[in-house]
Amino acid sequence: MSDSVVVLEQQDITDTENLDPQHIASLRLQNVSTYLNGLHRGVFSFLQAPKRTITVSFPVEMDDGFVRVFDGFRVVHNQVLGAGKGGIRYHPDLTFGEVRFLASLMTWKCALIDVPFGGAKGGVICDVKSLSQSEIRRITRRFISELGDNIGPHTDIPAPDLYTNAQTMAWIYDTYDIMHPGRNNRPAVTGKPLSLGGSEGREEATGRGVLYATQRFLTNSLIPDLKNVDGARIVIQGFGNVGYVAARLFCEAGAKIIAVSDSTGGIYSPDGLDLGAVVVHKNDHGSVVGLPETLSVTNDDLLELECDILIPAALSNQIHRNNAQNIKAKLIVEAANGPVSPEADIILRANDIPVLPDILVNAGGVTVSYYEWVQNIENEHWELAQVNGKMKYKMERAVDAVMFRWSELSSIKKSSTNPEEAEEKPDSPAEKVDLRTAALVVAVERLAKVTLERGIWP
Ligand code: NAD
Repeated sequence: MSDSVVVLEQQDITDTENLDPQHIASLRLQNVSTYLNGLHRGVFSFLQAPKRTITVSFPVEMDDGFVRVFDGFRVVHNQVLGAGKGGIRYHPDLTFGEVRFLASLMTWKCALIDVPFGGAKGGVICDVKSLSQSEIRRITRRFISELGDNIGPHTDIPAPDLYTNAQTMAWIYDTYDIMHPGRNNRPAVTGKPLSLGGSEGREEATGRGVLYATQRFLTNSLIPDLKNVDGARIVIQGFGNVGYVAARLFCEAGAKIIAVSDSTGGIYSPDGLDLGAVVVHKNDHGSVVGLPETLSVTNDDLLELECDILIPAALSNQIHRNNAQNIKAKLIVEAANGPVSPEADIILRANDIPVLPDILVNAGGVTVSYYEWVQNIENEHWELAQVNGKMKYKMERAVDAVMFRWSELSSIKKSSTNPEEAEEKPDSPAEKVDLRTAALVVAVERLAKVTLERGIWP
């Protein structure tokens, strides 16, 4: 479809990496366009552009009586498959470009995991650590009222993300319900507390999906000495919802968690951490750092520890051109959204370190959000085993689809570049398409198919 084929290669490593989210989004799609030969150029452009963007500024009365103005965003990237779906995050460094980028990731994620939602994302620029619970509640209520009818059960459905949780979702539900009395508003937001129509398993879903995806990937025996998570040494950046749940479930599956971190720093114990003690220490001291009988490490050093599996579960662009060369993990599992930068992808591919991509790995959250939405519409409540079983099936099917496309694309690329050499070195990592590209190709192809089946209106 494209006149100029763009594939990121070693020579594309720059002196200063451009980490602007819009730049990253378009770079990744340009890379994918190489493999979408039959795709109509206009359809590809349509899939790149966000459908609706909203920016709001609103006043909130703080506990001390002062009025502070907050900025918030909501972006619906695409609704070809269904209503917009995506988290709301609260962070002091949040930008509109980041929200737009994250909304597009949700579009690819929903298509890849096969749930009937489009992609969306939102957030407010604020630092929850410096706010009281009642201030966070007022910010949430005012933000949701500003979004008005731009969110709703069949329009755009928020969920938890960085520094928001089930309590935040309860306030969102309550605000929306007050604005729309007399109807079943439970499907307007997911990740709610169980008492308000939340689903069994939603709070753990993203971390649990990370485990299911990793286990399924390892059955392909692509990494020497790492056939399953049992006995694997794991490093996790981020000890919030996703990072903590992943740590606990990997541990239950026989893995050894040797290092974890939060925003204040990390802890390391080569013999394995006692997760119960980590949780107690974090609750008592507000940080994992300082747990007796562990070594303190910075967040930067933690990423470079020798381990089997590195799971970034916090912020974007944590592994970039300046530290990718130092990564010693055998496998990177992207529990966070966008933790590996495009130039880091190139370096890791050259070093034969596979990256299981975010749109595949952390899709367990949106999958169980979809189950919550279905239960809310039907006024049903499913058992935990049913939710987990259905999610596991979807995660494994998505991993299989990516692996299948990945091996197809790898052989196409090999034969189109230098077939003779490819036959001699069938497993050369530099010849291989990475898993992120394969996952994006699957997602974009599915979206393009549905777009053309629906037809362009009028
Ligand atoms: P959370 O707020 O519960 O936890 C975030 C964690 O990251 C905290 O432990 C925090 O201390 C840590 N952190 C913050 N800044 C850091 C830094 N500079 N270095 C190291 N750690 C830092 O958030 P969460 O829900 O666990 O989300 C984590 C990531 O997973 C985000 O990228 C989010 O977009 C992604 N994600 C979350 C869900 C979900 O269902 N919650 C679903 C899909 C993807």
